[in-house]
Amino acid sequence: MLLPKFDYQAPKSLREACALLDEFGAKARLLAGGTDLLVNLKHKKLAPEQVISLNRIKGLDEAAAKKGKGISIGPLATAAYLAENELAQGPLQVLAEGAGRIGSPLIRNRATIGGNIVTARPASDLAPPLLVLGALLILKGKDGERELPVEKFFKGPGKTSIKPKEILSRIFIPEPDGPGAGAYLKLGSRKALEISLVNVASFIEVGADLSIKQARIALGAVAPVPVRAKTAEKFLKGKKPQGENDPLFREAARAAVQDASPITDHRGSAEYRQALIEILTARTLQSAYSRIMKKV
Ligand SMILES: Cc1cc2nc3c(=O)[nH]c(=O)nc-3n(C[C@H](O)[C@H](O)[C@H](O)COP(=O)(O)OP(=O)(O)OC[C@H]3O[C@@H](n4cnc5c(N)ncnc54)[C@H](O)[C@@H]3O)c2cc1C
Repeated sequence: MLLPKFDYQAPKSLREACALLDEFGAKARLLAGGTDLLVNLKHKKLAPEQVISLNRIKGLDEAAAKKGKGISIGPLATAAYLAENELAQGPLQVLAEGAGRIGSPLIRNRATIGGNIVTARPASDLAPPLLVLGALLILKGKDGERELPVEKFFKGPGKTSIKPKEILSRIFIPEPDGPGAGAYLKLGSRKALEISLVNVASFIEVGADLSIKQARIALGAVAPVPVRAKTAEKFLKGKKPQGENDPLFREAARAAVQDASPITDHRGSAEYRQALIEILTARTLQSAYSRIMKKV
């Protein structure tokens, strides 16, 4: 399958990239890892006159933590990098687990976090981890930038709040308000190159007495956009589990089922997905709490 014809631009700064986007508008498309864009070009779903690569811009492909100030992630950080870099065993563990479940090694070496967010697939492996980490997205245009919580970004399958002339220039993860840990699980219908039937990310922050200050739970592939399980989160707030096997987590997981509206399709029935939500939510909460207990 041949690619359609287009002009290729490779700016060396975000400023230059924003100016090109401003000039070409709807005739242009940004290119990051290309795992989505090139498929769409080959299938003739898109035919931009200009393809603007972000790959020559320095410093967009790394994550860095500043003590007490959170973590800043560049939009070109690949899934492979996020799964394995030094933050993957620490505050970014839940995101690293999501990144490690994307496609195959080949895809993970190309697929970027920015491309994943902007593509807005309901079954994305990175969206639920970013929701439970409370990520903020920095969207940059020619005349300035704005900050948007990731929760407000997704509008439907493939639809987001990004404007045509904006670039997702950073992803910011705020510092948790106390000891915290997260976990991510996905279940698909096969072991490799699987698309989630359901995926769940959880993140728990505790107080000095190990009671739950805040729990965040996000469910993917069960609605047009990834959703927070707010009933379950509310149920857990203020409770003090007696270890990771406390029945509280299973009760919260049952509540999470009410927060989703899964559909029946060729990959699984709504009832099967509801059962998966309950199981995966309980396991991610147990795992997150057990990680906290090992740290404190
Ligand atoms: C075989 C295969 C398996 C896959 N498996 C999975 C999977 O298991 N889980 C999963 O979540 N995804 C999966 N994907 C989807 C895909 O790999 C991800 O969505 C990927 O992260 C997209 O990133 P990219 O860098 O390749 O984006 P690109 O293809 O370069 O870009 C995608 C879109 O985002 C826009 N864009 C990119 N970067 C920016 C930016 N910084 N600012 C604004 N717009 C931007 C582009 O213009 C384009 O419209 C799979 C894809 C393939 C082909």
